[in-house]
Amino acid sequence: MALSICSFGRIDYHYVIAMNTFSILAHALLLSAVVLLATSLVLVRRLITQLPTGSMRSRWHLLSLLVMAFIASYLSYTVVTWQAHHNWHDLIVPAVFFFGACFVWLTAGLALRTTKDLRQLVKLEHENITDPLLGIYNRRYLNRKLEEETTRALRYKMPLSILMVDVDHFKRINDTYGHQVGDQALIHLSKVLLDSVRNLDVVARYGGEEVLVIVPDTAPQTAAELAKRLNQYVESRALTITNSNGLPQEIRMTISIGVASLDYRTDNMQKLLERADAALYQAKQNGRNQVVVSGAHLGE
Ligand code: GH3
Ligand code: MG
Ligand code: MG
Repeated sequence: MALSICSFGRIDYHYVIAMNTFSILAHALLLSAVVLLATSLVLVRRLITQLPTGSMRSRWHLLSLLVMAFIASYLSYTVVTWQAHHNWHDLIVPAVFFFGACFVWLTAGLALRTTKDLRQLVKLEHENITDPLLGIYNRRYLNRKLEEETTRALRYKMPLSILMVDVDHFKRINDTYGHQVGDQALIHLSKVLLDSVRNLDVVARYGGEEVLVIVPDTAPQTAAELAKRLNQYVESRALTITNSNGLPQEIRMTISIGVASLDYRTDNMQKLLERADAALYQAKQNGRNQVVVSGAHLGE
């Protein structure tokens, strides 16, 4: 090689050095580009694991294949042009490849960061509106949702009912079995309620052992039927615990429910809650384990 660039029998060392420099630079750019692309591939793989299964995952899989195709092309180009970088303009293509790889690496990194941030945001939002013990909505979400549903129902003249549920003699469960079993009983109650309502109904913790069910688009009569059904479900589905002797033991709970619906006298969320609370109080007064509909007694 060096012989071919002799001028009048004298080697032009400057030319040789320049040629080597261009060659080294070109290879450095190409290999850095391959490393960046390989790193991007790892980032994309990590990103895919953060995504729910579905079309988004397939698209990122497609992008991985494209990155692999880029890596193969870059390597082929490096091999084919192994000794062909003699001038500064031979660096243009490797430089373009390098910047392209930088772009892919940066984009993959940013996409991964954004996906992680979004997941964190969703998690925080979920925690913000969920009761940590029962796993159902908390009072914060309940207030927001009930306000929304009340406004919607009033605007479109749709019915709206709520069910205020309170466990009967819950203190006895705590006193007899301890607070941990009391907690289990509340979790059990939440599950039974969630299993028994429609998807669009909202089950939320109102207070200690009180749960509120928002039943949109539902008139008082239907809400009362639902409440009675819930009353029976809770009574019939016992919680099984392991007692201190290691034996299974069933704990049965009953609930009282106050039902209230929007009407001409009850035209805001506060009044609706007050009426449900008063109906619940009445159910307790009447002997518990029953449903009272505000304005009409439907007890057992
Ligand atoms: P009733 O409603 O039938 O009048 O009787 P009650 O025994 O249920 O009465 P009350 O509503 O006054 O008592 C509720 C009890 O629930 C008091 C409180 O210690 C208990 N409690 C509230 N929140 C929790 C909780 O998260 N876990 C447990 N284990 N107990 C709780
Ligand atoms: Mg109670
Ligand atoms: Mg209570």
